[in-house]
Amino acid sequence: MFRSFLIKYGEIGVKGKNRHIFEDALMKQIRYALRKADGEFAVTRDRGGRIFVEVKSADYDYDAVLYALRHVFGVIAFCPVVHVEDASIENLRTEIVRYVDEVFEKKDFSFKINTRRARKSYPLTSMQVDASLGEAVLMAYPSVHVDVHDPEVNIRVEIRDIVHIYSLEIPGAGGMPIGTNGKTMLLLSGGIDSPVAGYMTAKRGVIIDAVYFHAPPYTSDRAKQKVIDLAGKVAEYAGPVYLHIINFTDIQLAIYQNCPHDELTIIMRRYMMRIAEHLARENDCLGLVTGESIGQVASQTLQSLYVTDSAVTSMPVYRPLIGMDKQEIVDLSEKIGTYETSILPYEDCCTIFVARHPVTKPRLDIIERSERKLDGVIEGLLEEAYAHDELVIVGKN
Ligand code: ATP
Ligand code: MG
Repeated sequence: MFRSFLIKYGEIGVKGKNRHIFEDALMKQIRYALRKADGEFAVTRDRGGRIFVEVKSADYDYDAVLYALRHVFGVIAFCPVVHVEDASIENLRTEIVRYVDEVFEKKDFSFKINTRRARKSYPLTSMQVDASLGEAVLMAYPSVHVDVHDPEVNIRVEIRDIVHIYSLEIPGAGGMPIGTNGKTMLLLSGGIDSPVAGYMTAKRGVIIDAVYFHAPPYTSDRAKQKVIDLAGKVAEYAGPVYLHIINFTDIQLAIYQNCPHDELTIIMRRYMMRIAEHLARENDCLGLVTGESIGQVASQTLQSLYVTDSAVTSMPVYRPLIGMDKQEIVDLSEKIGTYETSILPYEDCCTIFVARHPVTKPRLDIIERSERKLDGVIEGLLEEAYAHDELVIVGKN
C-alpha cells in the first residue's frame, strides 16, 4: 500500500554548499542499501530538498526496504507514504478511513490531521480539509479522538500533483552519510571490538577501508572467511568495503625467532600498525582505526597503547571504543548484527603467538632495541607482504 518513503535527515551543519554534497552522498548510499531489495526504486529530491524513495514496480518487498533504510547513515527517520491520485474531498475521506484501518491495529488513539497544500488551486483551504478528513475518521471509528495539541498520531496530508498521506515515522541509523568525511583504514580482526569500531567511524560519514592480518597455516581459511563476513556486516552500513588481506606469517615468525617472547604481542602490534599505515597512505586514508579500549586486555594498557602508537609516524589512530566497557561493546555488536559472527570460535593470529606472560607495561626504548634485531630481515618481509596484498571488495553486489 505504501508507494514512497519520505527520508528525514539532519540539516544541522549542512547549509550552503555542503548541503548538496550531503544530500548527494545520502541518495547514493540509499541506492546502495536498496540494491538487494526486491522491487524497482527511484531515489529523488524535490525542489525543497526533500528526499524520497519512490517505488516504481507494482510489487516490492516492504520489509527489505525497511531493513535497507535502517542501514543508511544520515537518515534520522523515514515515513512510509500512501499515494492517492484522485484528490477530490469525497475520495480523500474514503482514503483516510482506509488508511487508518490498514495502518493502525487498535483504533483507540488521539490524532490530528495536518494538511498542506502544495497545489494552491485546490478548492478547499488546509483547515477545511483537516476538518473534513478528521470528521470522516471520527465517524468511522468512534473510539479515536482528536487532540490538536499533543496527538499520539499526526496524520499528514499533502496535496501535490497527487496526494500523500503518512503518519508513521520509523527511526533510522542517524549519523552522517558515508562519503562526507573522508576515508580511514580499519584494522579488522575476527573479534567483537573492531567491527564495532568500524561501524562507529562509518557512522560519522567516513568511508572504511580495512586490513586483516592472517597467518596461514596457523590461522585457517575459515578464520579469514569470518573476517570477510564481518566486513560484509560492516558493509551493510558502510559499504562497499575494500578489505586488504595481508599474509603476516613470516613477519610473525621473524619476530618469534629474534625478539624476547614476552614482547611478541607488542612488537607484532607495532608491525600491524606500520603495515596499516603504509596501506592507508597508498589508499588515501587519513587515519587508522582500531577496536582497542583502555585496559581491556594486557595489550591495551596506556603504556601499550603508547608504544603501539609510536610505531605510526604520520597519521592519527582513532579508537572509537576507547572509553567503553566490554558489555557496552557487546550490546552494540548485537544491535548492528556482528556479534553472532564475532563469537565463532576460529583462532586469530594474536592468540597463536602469544607469550604466557606478556609485558603489560612495555617501555618504548626497550621495545625499539628489541626490534633492531629484525634489521636486515624485516624490510624484505614487509615488501613481500605488500606484494601479496589480497584485495577483497566486500558488499559490492
Ligand atoms: P577485537 O575484538 O577487535 O579482535 P581485541 O579485544 O581482541 O579486539 P586485540 O587482539 O588486542 O584486541 O587487538 C586490538 C586491535 O588490533 C583490534 O581491535 C583490531 O583493530 C586490531 N587487530 C588485532 N588483530 C588483528 C588482525 N589479525 N588483523 C587486523 N587487525 C587486528
Ligand atoms: Mg582480537
